Amino acid sequence: MTKSDMPDTAKSQRLYDVASQLIPGGVNSPARAWARVGGNPRFIDRGQGAMIWDADGNKFVDYVCSWGALILGHCHPEVVAAAESAVRRGSSFGAPTEIENTAAQLIVDSVPSVEMMRFVNSGTEAAMSAIRLARAATDRDLVLKFDGGYHGHDDALLVKAGSGVASFGIADSAGINSRLASDTLVAPYNDTEAVRQTFNAHGSNLACVIVEPIAGNMGVVPGAQDWLAELRDLTSKHGALLIFDEVISGFRVGAAGAQGKFNIEPDITCLGKVIGGGYPVGAYGASANLMSLVAPLGNVYQAGTLSGNPVAMATGVATMRAMLEEGQYDELASKTDMLASGLSEAVKSAGASYSVNSVTGMLTLFFTPEPPTNMTKASGADHAQFSTFFHAMLDAGIYIPPSPFEAWFVSTAHSAVDIERTVSAAEDALRRAVS
Ligand code: PLP
Repeated sequence: MTKSDMPDTAKSQRLYDVASQLIPGGVNSPARAWARVGGNPRFIDRGQGAMIWDADGNKFVDYVCSWGALILGHCHPEVVAAAESAVRRGSSFGAPTEIENTAAQLIVDSVPSVEMMRFVNSGTEAAMSAIRLARAATDRDLVLKFDGGYHGHDDALLVKAGSGVASFGIADSAGINSRLASDTLVAPYNDTEAVRQTFNAHGSNLACVIVEPIAGNMGVVPGAQDWLAELRDLTSKHGALLIFDEVISGFRVGAAGAQGKFNIEPDITCLGKVIGGGYPVGAYGASANLMSLVAPLGNVYQAGTLSGNPVAMATGVATMRAMLEEGQYDELASKTDMLASGLSEAVKSAGASYSVNSVTGMLTLFFTPEPPTNMTKASGADHAQFSTFFHAMLDAGIYIPPSPFEAWFVSTAHSAVDIERTVSAAEDALRRAVS
């Protein structure tokens, strides 16, 4: 690329310089930084459909899609209309509104294990509240999570594996109460033996197992059907609760989420992202019996000034309704398949040795020879090659997540032409990465 072909990024750079003085690292969430790929993040000015434009007017096909929230792409007309009409009626009341019933009903009707649910403001709050409910219901403290599973930044969940098959957690961040972290056990994902051993050793003290049934935070790594079934059996047998964190997979892989795909019902489900249509929403739900433990019915306290915010409920309802229309998920699945198989072909023709994992609406091109089944395998990614690939894609007008351990999100707004452009850009970018 000659200097005159280089995209103008002067305004993004200026905005980043200002942001860096005001906001740690210039970003309000670390995944937006470009620490893993080098360079400074582009500031985004606007989006429409599958496209985004940065502050300097450079245009990209967007596969971040607000980290999975925008299943319909940017500025879908029904979502925009819902937001406009809601905001004109008042942004927030701190009192119940009818749209909360509409949104809750859509979720209860779609997600098999959910009879009753509570809206919160983020996926973090959903997972944190689900754990609190599980601890209250079982009167136990220990939580089992899986290495590479992300459930938001609550103290009990920001924990990584120590050494060993299933180990007591070590805080993954400074500032976490080590006693809280040590109540979280961590086992490798997709490892049935490790889970059996954990239950043998700690079954009577485990309040719950929390799992992304389709992991999206080590890149896309689907849980194996028999492993998830074993989690269901062991939790039931030992009186622990099974929590499916479907903040990414909920309403993305299908209206019934991963639990619908696997036909396994968890005790508690966490939702977020898609159900807010791009506005801040999370939710947790369960049987009416379990949810009746939550205040004001029961003594599990959980609250939020902006929870069930009417604007976010309206955009969520518009998004869920649009996705519930006949054929939407089939179309999303075939677009995802088209991208996944195109990328696999591009890998071959570039002479690279990489792999692709994909599920409806989400995929990862892993810089590892075999499709990973857990975090240790995903960590084998070649970072330097990924970084070259990322920047080459950006130069070609394709915006993918700035990390080898993230899901790319496909929306209903991505067209066949967008996908063909992406595959052809990927072929060139892969050649640059391996050369
Ligand atoms: N759970 C999962 C599976 C997630 O992917 C995320 C965020 O990416 C969260 C929970 C936390 O959600 P939020 O960022 O809305 O707090």
